[in-house]
Amino acid sequence: MPAVDSLPGPKRSKPLYSADDVTVIFVLGGPGAGKGTQCAKLVADYGFKHLSAGDLLREEQDRPGSQFGEMIKHYIREGTIVPLEVTIQLVENAMTATIEKEGKRMFLIDGFPRKMDQALAFEATVCPSRFILFFDCPEDVMQERLLNRGKTSGRSDDNAESIKKRFKTFIETSMPAVDYYEKEGKVVKVKAVDSPDEVYEVVKRKLKERGIEAPKLKFV
Ligand code: ADP
Ligand code: AMP
Repeated sequence: MPAVDSLPGPKRSKPLYSADDVTVIFVLGGPGAGKGTQCAKLVADYGFKHLSAGDLLREEQDRPGSQFGEMIKHYIREGTIVPLEVTIQLVENAMTATIEKEGKRMFLIDGFPRKMDQALAFEATVCPSRFILFFDCPEDVMQERLLNRGKTSGRSDDNAESIKKRFKTFIETSMPAVDYYEKEGKVVKVKAVDSPDEVYEVVKRKLKERGIEAPKLKFV
């Protein structure tokens, strides 16, 4: 994925992509709710491009020579929100690269937006979203999953101390964005406690209700 070498100049007066031309579904939910797991299933069946904001930030963090690496590392370990200019630019660059190289125009943008200002800035300058797929999961279930994932993930934030901070950020900073979209009738909520396959059945049903169906052929 393309790195972020420079931050955007003056704000655009309209989004780079229109909702008629490009489909953006934001995928939200607490840390460990199963967003990545469900996105992988949707990619295989529907042919979406999955862009995880967290993955894009980790990639930039590890990119030799990145001017933002140290800053990103700090925010991720503390479970706080990386400044929107960097995050939005990474997502926009990844979308443009996907459209140009793969010709795909349907995106699951996972873990984004995690703050109200991000949501508004992205929709005004990059692309309006179609709706928000929200995975609803109790904290104790998410904590157990993350501690389990931490045994093999190698992630600096899959430990008890960072998880606690991530939950706090989720409730205090990210949920207000979900509440905003809820009032707009744009949140598709799915309970995420059952097995991945059971959760996925509900996802498929709810996407169908929003006019999105899987093509017959599988995408691998
Ligand atoms: P997120 O992307 O929301 O942080 P992940 O998809 O990475 O969450 O899932 C977190 C962990 O929980 C992973 O180890 C994953 O295998 C596991 N997991 C995901 N969904 C479920 C589920 N429905 N039931 C049990 N474990 C799950
Ligand atoms: P995730 O991989 O989604 O669990 O995200 C890991 C960490 O990356 C978060 O705790 C944040 O520090 C950072 N991050 C992920 N998504 C965003 C975002 N949309 N905006 C800012 N920071 C983010």
